[in-house]
Amino acid sequence: MTTPLHIAFDNTYARELPDFYRTWKPTPAPAPKCLFFNDRLARTLGLDFSGQSPQALAAFFSGNQLPDGAFPLAQVYAGHQFGGFSPQLGDGRALLIGEILTPQGARYDLAFKGSGRTPFSRNGDGKAALGPMLREALISEALHALGIPTTRTLAVIGTGEPVYRETVLPGANLTRIAASHIRVGTFEYFAARGETQHVKALTDYTIARHYPELTGSRTCYLDLLAAVCERQAALVAQWQHVGFIHGVMNTDNMTLSGETIDFGPCAFMEAFDPNTVFSSIDRQGRYAYGNQPSIAQWNLARLAETLLPLLAERQEEAIALATEIIHQFPEKFARHWLQGARRKLGFETAPEQEREQAQIDLQLTQDWLALLQKDKADFTLSWRALADAAEGNLAPLQAQIHDREALQSWVDRWKLRCAEHDHRYEHTLVTPSSALESSCDARRANAIRAANPWIIPRNQRVEEALTAASESGDLSPFETLLEALRHPFEENSVYRSLAQPATAAFTSGYRTFCGT
Ligand code: AMP
Ligand code: MG
Repeated sequence: MTTPLHIAFDNTYARELPDFYRTWKPTPAPAPKCLFFNDRLARTLGLDFSGQSPQALAAFFSGNQLPDGAFPLAQVYAGHQFGGFSPQLGDGRALLIGEILTPQGARYDLAFKGSGRTPFSRNGDGKAALGPMLREALISEALHALGIPTTRTLAVIGTGEPVYRETVLPGANLTRIAASHIRVGTFEYFAARGETQHVKALTDYTIARHYPELTGSRTCYLDLLAAVCERQAALVAQWQHVGFIHGVMNTDNMTLSGETIDFGPCAFMEAFDPNTVFSSIDRQGRYAYGNQPSIAQWNLARLAETLLPLLAERQEEAIALATEIIHQFPEKFARHWLQGARRKLGFETAPEQEREQAQIDLQLTQDWLALLQKDKADFTLSWRALADAAEGNLAPLQAQIHDREALQSWVDRWKLRCAEHDHRYEHTLVTPSSALESSCDARRANAIRAANPWIIPRNQRVEEALTAASESGDLSPFETLLEALRHPFEENSVYRSLAQPATAAFTSGYRTFCGT
C-alpha cells in the first residue's frame, strides 16, 4: 500500500506577491509513467518518497494528483529575447507547485515544466517533448556535479501523449528544483508597465530570499544590483571554464539567485574556439561561447534599468549609480575567471599576491588558450592533460597540441610559474631535492584533476541518449551517461568512450534546438 504523500509546502511567493502570477492547474496526463526519478536529490531536499509506488510517483510528478499544500501558479514575466523586448512572456508551459524547506532550512521552488497551457501560453501548446526534458535533466545534473550553481531535475515523466513539433514526439513533464524562479525578466515586466511599487515589492522579496545580508542597508537596492552582478560574474566564469554554452541567454533566462536556468539549446564546446555556437536559432552568434560574459553584463544592465526609480530621487543620480555598478562587471568577471584559471593550472594564489601576479597568470592562460585554439584542441582533454604534464608525461598534451616547440616553451613557463608559486607559498622547494619535487608534482597533478573534469556531456553522446529514449523508448544510454556525469573529476575506464570528443565533422554539423 502506498503511504499518502506529504510535503510541507510554504508558499511565500504566492502569499507575498499576489499580483505576480495566475493560479492555474496542470493539465492531466493521460498515461503518466515515471522515466527518471532523482532519488539522491529527493533525499538532500528532505523529501520522502520511499513509500510511494511507481504509479503514485507518476501521478504526483505528472500533476495528476497534487499533494495537500500545493498551490500551482503560473508566474508572469517579460524579457529581452535576442536583444528585442517582449513585454509579456510568463510561464507558458510551466507551473510553480510550491516551495519546500530542506532540513538545513534552504528554500527551493518545486515546479513543473511541460504541464499544459496557461494564461501565458500565447500560441504554444504548453507541452514539452521527452528529448529536451531529458537534455535538461542530463545537463543540469552534470553542471551540479561540476560544482556549478544550477536548477536541478527531480523527475521526468512521460505523459503518454504525443506532442507535435516538426515531427510527432513523445510528450514529457519535468520537475525542476530551483532556488527560485525570479528572473531579470520578472523585474522587466513590472518596470515596463511603470509599476514601481511592484518592482519594489519584488526587490524586497528577492533581498529577503536570496540576499538577506543586505536587509536593512540604506543602499540595499544598489547593493542588490552589485550582489547579483557578483553572482552572475562567478557563474559565467564557471561556465567558461568547462566550455558550457547556455545558448539562449535572454533576460528571462537569467536568475536573480545566480543559478543556471532554462536549458534549451545548451551544449558543451569540444574543440576550443570562442566563436562556438550550436543553437539553430542563434544565427548571428549572439550567444556564442566567447560572448557570454558581455551578454551577462548586457542583461544586468537591463536589470539595473528596472531598479532606477528605487536608487535615487533624481534620475541622473540613479543612472550614475547604476552605471558605475554595471561598469564594474568586466572586472568582477575577470577576477572570478582568473581565480578559476589558476585552479585549473594547478595553483591557487593568496589574495595579497593576486594583483602582482595577475598580469603574468593572465598572459600564461591566454597563451595556453591560443595554443588550444590554433590546433583546435579539445578544451576538456587539454586541460586535463596538464595533470599528466605535471607528473612528467607530456604525451596526452602532445596528442592535443601538435606544435611541439610552442607547447614545450609554454610548458617551461608554466612549470617555472608552478615552482615559483610553491616556493612562495608552500616553502617546499627552497632547497629543491628531486624527492620533494616529485611529491609536489603528484600533489599538483591531483589539484589539477580536481579542477579539470575528465568527462563532460559530449554532444554526440547526449544526442544518442536522447534519440534512444525518444525513438525506441530505451532509457539505458541516458541512465549510463547520467551516472558517468555524476563523478566528472574521476577517471573511470568503464566510461572512456563517453568521455571522448566527437569527430570534427560531427561537431561542425551539430545544431541544437530550443525544444519549445
Ligand atoms: P524558453 O525559450 O523555453 O525560455 O521560453 C520562452 C517563453 O516561451 C517562455 O515564456 C515559455 O513559457 C514560452 N514557451 C516555450 N515553449 C512553450 C510551449 N510549448 N507552450 C507555451 N509556451 C511556451
Ligand atoms: Mg525561459
